Amino acid sequence: MLKIEKLTKIYRTDEVETIALNSISFNVQKGEFIAIMGPSGCGKTTLLNILGLLDNPDDGSYIMDKIELAKLKEKQRTQYRKGNIGFIFQNFNLIDELTVYENVELPLNYLKIDSNEKKEAVNQVLKRMNISHRAKHFPHQLSGGQQQRVAIARSVVAKPKILLADEPTGNLDSKNGKDVMDLLTELNREGATIIMVTHSKEDSLYAHRVINLFDGHII
Ligand code: ADP
Ligand code: MG
Repeated sequence: MLKIEKLTKIYRTDEVETIALNSISFNVQKGEFIAIMGPSGCGKTTLLNILGLLDNPDDGSYIMDKIELAKLKEKQRTQYRKGNIGFIFQNFNLIDELTVYENVELPLNYLKIDSNEKKEAVNQVLKRMNISHRAKHFPHQLSGGQQQRVAIARSVVAKPKILLADEPTGNLDSKNGKDVMDLLTELNREGATIIMVTHSKEDSLYAHRVINLFDGHII
């Protein structure tokens, strides 16, 4: 489903050149759950941002379902991202001014879906994440675990092809972290393809496969 070949990313500032990703290659099958691990600064976030089309590589190829994404222009990149990629962040990244319902609805507002269909999709995913009773509340009224469940609801509501998560349990205590990992596992069993960056050995055990990065290389 994903074919990543010789992805390279170099950050250049004044006189310093940092090779954040040094010719990374791997494939991902549909329905796989992959964990990316490695020490701080090894390139995990850079890789996930490129896979999530939040950034472009300097070199290499990134093919999803036969479409080359590495060389898309900004506008096409954004459009492809909104229709196909779900993102879960360590710090939840919910919008404080919007209710739980409105946060989850957001990705659907970029797609052409009629309002009944939209309502049904949002309600269904809120129920699925066991957070329907908080639909009218604002993010600051929720616990961290609940906020991450809302963020997961938002990431899957548009039925993306792939789900990317950057340290999804990093800001949670162990009970809430385990709940989030159980939820991701269930989504994976229902067919979601997931790539997750994690520091946690324990969380990595939920994945089918671990990719270890070190200094921009896969080891
Ligand atoms: P990780 O997520 O594994 O901690 P990152 O992908 O954030 O690592 O960073 C990889 C390397 O690239 C690090 O050396 C980091 O300092 C560098 N880096 C990341 N973003 C930038 C940037 N915007 N400008 C310059 N260097 C960067
Ligand atoms: Mg990082």
